[in-house]
Amino acid sequence: MRLFKYLLLSLLILQGCSAQLHSSSEEFEGRAGVRELTVLYSNDEHGWMEGTEPGRGAANLLGLWHEKEGYSEDGSFLLLSGGDHWTGPAISTWFEGEGMVEVMNTMGYDATAIGNHEFDFGLDNLEQRIDQANFPYLAANIQWAASEALPSELGILAHTTMQVNDLIVGIIGLSTTDTPNTTNPINIVDLSFLEYEPVLRETVAQLEASDPDLIFVVAHVCMAALRPLAAAVADLNIDLMGGGHCNELVAERVGDTILLESGGHFRSYARAHFEYDLASNSVIAASFSAEQNEGGDSDESVAQVVANWRAETETELSAVVGFMSREYLESDDRLQRAVVESWLQIDSAADIAINNRRALRAPLSRGELTLADVVGLLPFENTVYAVELTGAEIFQVLGEGQSPFFAGLVRTENDWLLAKTGRLIEASQTYRVLINSFMYEGGAGYDAIAEFDTAGFDTEIHYRQPLVDWLIEQDSSSSQAITLP
Ligand SMILES: [Zn+2]
Repeated sequence: MRLFKYLLLSLLILQGCSAQLHSSSEEFEGRAGVRELTVLYSNDEHGWMEGTEPGRGAANLLGLWHEKEGYSEDGSFLLLSGGDHWTGPAISTWFEGEGMVEVMNTMGYDATAIGNHEFDFGLDNLEQRIDQANFPYLAANIQWAASEALPSELGILAHTTMQVNDLIVGIIGLSTTDTPNTTNPINIVDLSFLEYEPVLRETVAQLEASDPDLIFVVAHVCMAALRPLAAAVADLNIDLMGGGHCNELVAERVGDTILLESGGHFRSYARAHFEYDLASNSVIAASFSAEQNEGGDSDESVAQVVANWRAETETELSAVVGFMSREYLESDDRLQRAVVESWLQIDSAADIAINNRRALRAPLSRGELTLADVVGLLPFENTVYAVELTGAEIFQVLGEGQSPFFAGLVRTENDWLLAKTGRLIEASQTYRVLINSFMYEGGAGYDAIAEFDTAGFDTEIHYRQPLVDWLIEQDSSSSQAITLP
């Protein structure tokens, strides 16, 4: 399938070159020398193939693109992504992203950046996902630390060239330099993430060999870094830069470069439309916008793929993840601690974790424990957030409301110590604190947290997943059951 696509592409490139030669010597009628191209852009899909609310999932988005954008797979379109396809709800996370790649294959994506969460299940998994995908995963700024070579063994490409409607489009990928802090560091210990600008200059120069009409960048990079980057490389004549990672909804222009970001979770998308004059080799008109996924008629083939993964997920719920030596009520301090302690395992930079007291909703019974039991214990679609709080702010959060559960702190008779270092918690010092998304949104009366840190970071890791991983790691059995400390 993939080979077929590349053969087709080569053929199209040959045809495209001849069309360009003709355009200089022959008179075409009307706007025959003008080629149009529409880019439809998403990022931070994070496994939400079913949508965060009914009717706004992947199948509806593709339906909307058909209806509103006139999208067809053989039309003059490029479907691009800014990365972070998986890590989110169980339908994606339990299958390590396999379902999301199938969904994006079915939707017809053409290329993507590599997000930090693409590394969440290790390099072998990323290699399998890239192999499964009918579209390339691009990142020009990732190298093996030892050899300084692009990790092409994993299937990662720095750039690609596509032929659409007689236009040659060069597409370059970038991954966030923040990746080492935002995926499990063990997964990327052998890789380096290079600064964007020098890599971009080098890669655009390499692309010149294929004489692209348009140059696009797909970047898993937040706007705070992408805007200055676009300004700094204005001389490279990059037509479009798509971002990602910070879930911003953006359609704007910096100089001659259009910047897009789609929000996230398939809730919305961004688009750009180009009119390119073959005779003068230039963009003669461009428009761009950010749009909501208002929910088009569900595309049947995508809906079928999503339904299959839903069925797989339901089956998976009966999977055994451990054995308990006794029953633990949801109000049991030991169970509460096990949950909040497990969060500290997902972020080595985190100092403290805090979970609201009523977060646990069902007991774990003695004996065999299934995924369904853990879903019952932590039933909400919450993720883990990382926030930066001072010692004084932490004391305020701990003192407020319903005395939450915490990990990473040790209480002595008169003081609070940081478990990691054994040092006193200082009122003015800043600490990295993991909480759940419900708390960050002000749930259970925790409005102050988002005021203390307005830029809280959504790890996108489900708040249930670290406990599931911890339970599996215990390798328990009916004779070696888990007793919580
Ligand atoms: Zn990201």
